Amino acid sequence: MSGRWLIYNKLLWILDTRCNLNCPHCYVHSREWEKKLTRERSLELIEEAKEMGIKEIDFSGGEVLLIPETMDYLQKAKESGLSVSLNSNGLLLNEKNLRRLKELDVFLYLSIDGAKKETYEKIRGLGHFDLLLTNLSLLQKFEIPFAFLFTLSSINYFEAPEMVSLGKEWGAKFLCLIPLIPAGEARKSRIWIDSSLIVDTVKEVSEAADKFNFPVHVADCPFLKLFSFSNNLIIEPCPSFEIIDLSPSGDILICDVVDFPFSEVRTKSLLEAIKEMENHPLYNLLKERKKACEKCSVSDFCQAGCYARAYLCLGDFAQPDPFCPQVLNQS
Ligand code: SF4
Ligand code: SF4
Repeated sequence: MSGRWLIYNKLLWILDTRCNLNCPHCYVHSREWEKKLTRERSLELIEEAKEMGIKEIDFSGGEVLLIPETMDYLQKAKESGLSVSLNSNGLLLNEKNLRRLKELDVFLYLSIDGAKKETYEKIRGLGHFDLLLTNLSLLQKFEIPFAFLFTLSSINYFEAPEMVSLGKEWGAKFLCLIPLIPAGEARKSRIWIDSSLIVDTVKEVSEAADKFNFPVHVADCPFLKLFSFSNNLIIEPCPSFEIIDLSPSGDILICDVVDFPFSEVRTKSLLEAIKEMENHPLYNLLKERKKACEKCSVSDFCQAGCYARAYLCLGDFAQPDPFCPQVLNQS
């Protein structure tokens, strides 16, 4: 098989907005998708993804463990030879679903947004920290591989370095830091932190990553490549040209944090939808926007940074990342 679509390695699939929690930073919970992909269409889609050369499906929510079909999709993906991962808050894990996740070779991304009980419960709600610790012990018992996700906000940024030692202690494969994007609930709660606080926090996390020799990935801030950090700190590029972001209604989104659909897979095959996406004028504009930063030493990597943040903060996808210190200095 040949064609441009083979560059996509991963499907990031938001299955539903339903959740057992109501966190102030959630980018999904307050969004509404009226139509839902049916179970039958979803199972077909997994086959189409495999046929197109996609290697991995990352299922997200909401809370995926609340969705009855999640295990069916995981099983279908495994039978199709795809790698699978789940994003979960971990509070609904139990012996039964962990046994199934183990059988299905699932990698778990656990969102844990506080190293200490008080901070964690400010975000996740009272009474949940002890349950989280119980479930982490269960996870260890089943030897399911997992990583910690930590969304940096004004409520918890000072505990990010401590998450490195916790990650090591609990046996996580790595820690992923995600500076909060002003989308969804976060637009109302306004708890994102500014660019200079992100940089200072990541510097402290980098020192901890060195000290504990523990890998930390930082997502959605490719401008951080302007700085030097520990070898254990990995700054991720924007993955959008390698990932297909799918909404619960089957829309192919410009990015999972923004409700701008390029196409849909309710009535179109995944291949047709991706072709439609690639022919969309905005898709080509995104590919060209790095020209706005052509003098920057890291522009090949950063590609003008996060276009979702440019849209959410400035209303214009074409602008360079408004959190980049170089961009800020020029304005
Ligand atoms: S546009 Fe921004 S939020 Fe979306 S994947 Fe890229 S860096 Fe992440
Ligand atoms: S100037 Fe542009 S390419 Fe360079 S780091 Fe900032 S946003 Fe990225």
